[in-house]
Amino acid sequence: MLPAMLPQPKPGFLEALRAALPKARLLTEPVDTEGYRFDETEFLHPGRPLGVIFPKNTSDVQAIVRLAAAHHIALVPRGAGTGLSGGAIAVEGALTVVMTQMDRIIEIDEANLCAVVQPGVINADLGRAAAAKGLFYAPDPASFETCTIGGNLAENSGGLRCVKYGVTRDAVLALEVVLADGAVIRTGGKTVKDVMGYDLSHLFIGSEGTLGIITEATLRLLPKPAPTLTLLAFFPTVADAGDAVARMTRAGLVPVTLELMDNFTIRAVDGAMRLGLDRDAGAMLMIESDAGGSAAEAELDAATEACQSAHALSVVRSADPAEADWLREARRKAHWSLEQAGAARMDDVGVPRSRVPEMLAAIERVAAARGARIGVFGHVGDGNLHPTYVLDRDDPSAEAQLDAVRGDIYAAALALGGTLSGEHGTGVAKRGYLERQRGVDAVRVMRAVKAALDPLGILNPGKVLA
Ligand SMILES: Cc1cc2nc3c(=O)[nH]c(=O)nc-3n(C[C@H](O)[C@H](O)[C@H](O)COP(=O)(O)OP(=O)(O)OC[C@H]3O[C@@H](n4cnc5c(N)ncnc54)[C@H](O)[C@@H]3O)c2cc1C
Repeated sequence: MLPAMLPQPKPGFLEALRAALPKARLLTEPVDTEGYRFDETEFLHPGRPLGVIFPKNTSDVQAIVRLAAAHHIALVPRGAGTGLSGGAIAVEGALTVVMTQMDRIIEIDEANLCAVVQPGVINADLGRAAAAKGLFYAPDPASFETCTIGGNLAENSGGLRCVKYGVTRDAVLALEVVLADGAVIRTGGKTVKDVMGYDLSHLFIGSEGTLGIITEATLRLLPKPAPTLTLLAFFPTVADAGDAVARMTRAGLVPVTLELMDNFTIRAVDGAMRLGLDRDAGAMLMIESDAGGSAAEAELDAATEACQSAHALSVVRSADPAEADWLREARRKAHWSLEQAGAARMDDVGVPRSRVPEMLAAIERVAAARGARIGVFGHVGDGNLHPTYVLDRDDPSAEAQLDAVRGDIYAAALALGGTLSGEHGTGVAKRGYLERQRGVDAVRVMRAVKAALDPLGILNPGKVLA
C-alpha cells in the first residue's frame, strides 16, 4: 500500500507560512535555493524547490508540517546536505526544511551519561562538548565536522569507530519527532532500559526523513577512552589486506578502528596530504586501539602479527596521539582526495566480515572488466566498503558507465550475503534496488508503515520507496 499521491497543491501556502512564522528565514528565489538542491551524491537530478525554510524550534516544525498537510505541499527535511544517497535533495515543488538553526546542545547530563540535543548540532561539536566533561560520543562519520546529528539519526550513520562502539542507533535513548499530521511524540527517555510498547526510536532511526521530522534526541555518552594508538600496515595486494582483516576477526580482535585504502586511494590521499605513505603498496590498513596503556600495546601487537602473517610489506606505529590524529584525518579525507581526480561517486556496500576478501576481489574484477576507475576504501572491520567511482563529468556516457559498474558490484555484494548500503542509506540512489535486496513482502511492510504514518505522502516523497 502506498500513501495516496499528493493531491493538487492548494494556493496560498507561502503566504500562510510567512504569516505563521514571520521570523523564520524563508528563501524562495532560485538563486538562493540553488545551494540547497543537492547533497554530496554525484550524478543525481534534484527538482526545483518551492522554497527553503529554517525552523528554530519544535513549534516552528509543527506549524510547517500542519500548513504543508493542509496545502498538500511536500516537505524535504535536510541537515547539512552531506548525504551520499540523495535523501536531502530537493523535490520539485516541495519545501526543503533545513534543521541547522536548531543547533543547541540542551544538556550534557553527567549523572545519567547522556546528552539532549537539537537535530542541527554538528556531530563533532557534540563530541567536543562531551569531551569537555570527560565523556565521549562514539558515532563519528568521516564527515563529522560538517554533518548534523539529525542527518546521522535519519541515516543511522556509521563511521570510523563502529567496530567497537556500533552505529548511531546504538547511541540513541530517545527521540522527539514531529509526525506528518503535526503531532509531537517522544519515543523514550533517559532510562538505560525501556521496553514499553513498540520500539519507535528504531523505526525513525534510518527512516531518511520519510516518516517524521526529528526535533530532539537523547543520546548515550560513555566515559572518555584513552588516546588512540595507531598502526599502519602496507600490503602488496588488496587481497592480502583482506586476509589480514579476516585473521584479526578470527583472532577476536575488536580495535576501535579498522580501515582500508587501496592503491588508487593511497596515491590520491598522499598526493593531497603529503604524508609519506607507501605509494607502491597495493593496500593499506589503519588500525587503532583506544584500550589504553599495555592493553593497547597488546592489541596492536596482535594486529601486527595478523598483518605479518598476511604478507604485510611494512607495519608502522604512530609516534604520539598528534600523529595518530593526523593519520585519522588523512583517512577522513579519502573521498575529497579522490574528488581531485574527477567526479567521485562514493558507494557503500557491506558484506559479512568473513567475505571481505571475496568482495574486494569482486570489485577488482568489475573495475578490470568495465575499464572503470574505482578507488576502494572504507570501514573494512565492519565489512563495509566504499568503492568510489571516479568519472569524467563531461563524458556523456559517464552515467551509463556508473550504472553498469554499480549494478555489477551490487550483484556481487548480494551474492556474498551482503547489503547495498551499510551506512549511507537508500535515498534516491538505491531505491530501485530495495525490492531486490529485501524482497517484495518486506517492501510491502515498509509501504504499509509509510502509509500509516504519512497517509498524504508529504514527507520526503520518492526517497527510500520509489
Ligand atoms: C566526505 C564524506 C564522508 C562521509 N563519511 C561517512 C561515514 O563515515 N559514515 C556515514 O555513515 N556517512 C558518511 N557520510 C555521509 C553523510 O555525512 C551522513 O549520511 C550524514 O549523517 C548526513 O548528515 P547531514 O546532516 O548532512 O544530513 P543530510 O544529508 O542533510 O540528510 C540526510 C538524510 O537525513 C534526513 N534528515 C536530516 N535531518 C533530519 C531530521 N531532523 N529529521 C528527519 N530527517 C532528517 C534527510 O531528509 C535525508 O534523508 C559522509 C559524507 C561525506 C561527504
